[in-house]
Parts: sequence; structure tokens; C-alpha cells
Amino acid sequence: LLNKEFFKISLEKMAALTEENRDYWTELDSDIGDGDHGINLSIGFRGVTEKLQENYDNSNDINDLLKKSGMILLSKVGGASGPLYGSFFMKIGKDVVGKNEVTFVEFVDMLKNGIEAIQMRGKAELGDKTMLDTLLPGLDYLELHKEDEDSIKVLEDAVAIMKQGSDSTIPLVAKKGRAMRLGERAIGHRDPGSASSWMLINVFLEEMK
Ligand code: ADP
Ligand code: MG
Ligand code: MG
Repeated sequence: LLNKEFFKISLEKMAALTEENRDYWTELDSDIGDGDHGINLSIGFRGVTEKLQENYDNSNDINDLLKKSGMILLSKVGGASGPLYGSFFMKIGKDVVGKNEVTFVEFVDMLKNGIEAIQMRGKAELGDKTMLDTLLPGLDYLELHKEDEDSIKVLEDAVAIMKQGSDSTIPLVAKKGRAMRLGERAIGHRDPGSASSWMLINVFLEEMK
């Protein structure tokens, strides 16, 4: 069972991961965007960490914690990724309101809600060279295997698929976001959000192990 502490620690580790990868994500975004993806997420997750330290959420409600964190990301980050990751965290807990622990199956359903929220807001499809090229194939795998016995192995395989999904953005032309303006010049470059998204999901895996 995954409790509120699991999600709280995961958020803290996502913030640390963001600091470590701030320059990498920003470099990726310099190639095909405006060079701020790492900076955007750093600002957002610093906001989340600050609030966590204030212990702003002393209830046991997983949804409360995630929703508030999503609202911080949404309000602090100027770029496209703020509202997208913001909606992910705002919606991820919508079916576990009032709960303080969830099963792996519920966890997968949470990811589904979050990823659907990203898609609803950004209207991107698979192959548009966005974070959804990472998230959608991983989610498909998780949905098929969420009842399997070894849930850590399932998540591990899903993260590997997500990583491949990020690789799959390299040869693509972008159909959403800033990189769209580059047309064929985006070919040969990894989408920055596809990189940050598998790495952030990987934090849940590391924390589950
Ligand atoms: P901005 O482009 O506003 O500077 P960021 O650089 O922080 O914002 O984030 C860019 C990332 O956001 C892209 O690499 C892409 O993965 C993701 N993205 C942009 N638009 C969309 C969209 N409509 N749907 C899904 N993801 C998107
Ligand atoms: Mg950018
Ligand atoms: Mg920007």
C-alpha cells in the first residue's frame, strides 16, 4: 500500500531530481524551444518544496497533498509545462479523495487520471513530439499489467517503455508547443518534456522499491 508519506517523499525527490536535471532539460529546450524547461520546473518544484516544509498539508488526505502541489506548479510556472504538470497533480488524486493509502491498481488509475488531464488541457496526441509520447505508451502498459503480481516489475517495465517513448520523439516533427514553429528543424532533437516526464515518473518507481 502507498500512503501519503510515499507521495510526500516522492514530491520531495522530484524537486531534488529537478535541480539535478535543470541544466539538461534547459539544454534540450534550447535546441527546439526557448531554453527554459529546466528553469520552469525548478521554479515550480521549489514552490512545492517550500510549502511542504511549512507542512501546509497536515491532513492524511493524499488528494489534498497532490492537488495543492499541482496548484502551486500551475501558479508558479509560466511555461506550457506548468499548467500541464499542474493539471497532472491536480487531477491525479480525484478518485482517492479522503484516502490515506492506495493500492497499486489505484495508483495506476491515479496516473491515468493525471495523464488524461494533461491530454485534456494540451490536446496533444501520440506522435506530436510532447511529454505524451512518453506518458501514453507507459500508461497503456500499466493498464494491461496493473493486476500482475510483481507491481514493482510492472512499473519498472513501464518506466523503460516511457524512456523509449522519449527516444521516439527524436526523429519527429512537433505538432504541439513551441517546437512546432521549427518544422523539420526539430528533427533530430529530443523533446524536453518527454525527458522530464519519464524521469519524474521514475521517482515513484525508485520510491516504491
Ligand atoms: P514553454 O514551451 O512554454 O517554454 P516548457 O519549456 O516548460 O514550456 O515546456 C515545454 C514542453 O511542454 C515540451 O517539451 C512538451 O513536452 C510539453 N508540451 C508543450 N505543449 C504541449 C501540449 N499541448 N501537450 C502536451 N505537452 C506539451
Ligand atoms: Mg520552454
Ligand atoms: Mg517558455
